[in-house]
Amino acid sequence: MTNPDQSIILILGDQLSLNISSLRQGNKTNDIILMAEVAEETTYAAHHKKKFVLVFSAMRHFAEKLRKLGWTVDYVKLGDAGNSGTLEGEIARACDRHNTTNVFLTEPAEWRLREALKHIRTLEDTRFICSHATFNAWANTRKELRMEFFYRDMRKATNLLMNGDEPEGGKWNYDSENRNPAKQDLFTPQPPHFKPDQITQDVITLVQEKFKNNFGDLEPFWFATTAENAEIALTHFFEHVLPHFGETQDAMVEGEYFMHHSILSPYINIGLLNPLEVCRRVEQRYREGHVPLAAAEGFIRQIIGWREYIRGIYWLKMPDYVNVNALSAKRPLPDFYWTGKTQMNCVKQAVKQTKQEAYAHHIQRLMITGNFALLAGLDPKQVHEWYLAVYIDAFEWVELPNTIGMALHADGGLLGSKPYAASGNYINKMSNYCKSCSFNVKKRTEDDACPFNALYWDFIARHFERFRKNPRMAQTCHTYGKFDETEKQAIAKRAASFLDSQISGQY
Ligand code: FAD
Ligand code: SF4
Repeated sequence: MTNPDQSIILILGDQLSLNISSLRQGNKTNDIILMAEVAEETTYAAHHKKKFVLVFSAMRHFAEKLRKLGWTVDYVKLGDAGNSGTLEGEIARACDRHNTTNVFLTEPAEWRLREALKHIRTLEDTRFICSHATFNAWANTRKELRMEFFYRDMRKATNLLMNGDEPEGGKWNYDSENRNPAKQDLFTPQPPHFKPDQITQDVITLVQEKFKNNFGDLEPFWFATTAENAEIALTHFFEHVLPHFGETQDAMVEGEYFMHHSILSPYINIGLLNPLEVCRRVEQRYREGHVPLAAAEGFIRQIIGWREYIRGIYWLKMPDYVNVNALSAKRPLPDFYWTGKTQMNCVKQAVKQTKQEAYAHHIQRLMITGNFALLAGLDPKQVHEWYLAVYIDAFEWVELPNTIGMALHADGGLLGSKPYAASGNYINKMSNYCKSCSFNVKKRTEDDACPFNALYWDFIARHFERFRKNPRMAQTCHTYGKFDETEKQAIAKRAASFLDSQISGQY
């Protein structure tokens, strides 16, 4: 006999929050929580080893917590006998075990999973602040989908940093006070390190056995895998980093992996921290006088602005978004994205820390590896697959628009009104990478010239007709137009010879 009052609640690896809609609707006395580590989820991207540890360890800890709170949890480990390897298979097996056909879950964050599980009753994911309906209604009223206007609406909707209808301090955005290069005596606090407990240690052993050929260093593993430890990381951020948030947001320093960034995305993305609650507490820190307005506003903008906007764009444009390629970029991803073996010191450093920590901050992702991919015309799909694999916070809903739209301009300008393209000059201004690079950042076309310089102008040349009509690129196109023919040819030759040499592995 099936029990009509009993349901199976499927909880996914990025839904580890007690406040998730499925748990709120569930009934502790009757319902059964299903959590499953399945092979399918380990292979859709070539995940970094640390990402496996984060997600599996956090899932196992969450299952323990639910049991302590009185829930019945049916947890299937990756190596368990009979594990079918797919979520669908595990749902079917659980239905047999518990003699029920009632299953529901909170909406998966990614298109792939929503499609696979669309026959199952789905509740809205209320951890996001802007619903699909609200974002789509906003998008329908706009000619251009610019983040800044979306962000203002979100400020009003959440009442974060508002004085009645006016933004706190009179301005919506204090970015002009931020984004400086790092000072010589810069001190950056390290994020707190958490010693792996037995659960995490077991997962480390599992990953060592099953995924030893995946990208990245497995140990030391120090990320939080419980909400309690994520809360410690958050408090550390409030006390040591938030007061300086934004000041050096775009700066890069060799050997300094975290600068004044929060390192909270891994925890927010899997449910260990609630984004709106984090923002409310940031506002409180400001109102109590602990942090300047520019820092609080800058952080809140990243979450209720960028993070929500990116998610809105993803759902608005999927499933086609993954295939866009407005600049017809076709070059294969060079090996050095995986090995770090390149003489370009900026790229080498970004890949090195990505391999070690599964983390690089936004400007390293956007203006080093992303910028190179944009200028070199790398195939957007291959670049997307790389970003989805190598970062601990990488889930398609957030990674894809950042890569395809923001970094590669492959959506033709939907997400950004101009491409984030830069020559070596920008990298030299914002970092100290060039000081120990074998290329000369001041040179453009010589054999030892910084490759970003010729590649930048070659990129402008290749897309001259498109960008000439873009008001934000017109001046750059005008400058290129004034180069004499000899210089233009030298740029094209240097760009081509460099790109050929990286395919042959010479750099
Ligand atoms: P902070 O700099 O401290 O920012 C605070 C928070 O704001 C972050 O934790 C994050 O939740 C949010 N945030 C800031 N910028 C963005 C943004 N552009 N999009 C969404 N949220 C944002 N972020 C991911 O979470 N997962 C990804 O897979 C991912 N891939 C990216 C790929 C590329 C090519 C680029 C350019 C950016 C990508 N980002 C991604 C966005 C951003 O780089 C990371 O959110 C950020 O680096 C995370 O580190 P942090 O927590 O220290 O962020
Ligand atoms: Fe990168 Fe060019 Fe600077 Fe070298 S000189 S670190 S390649 S920007």
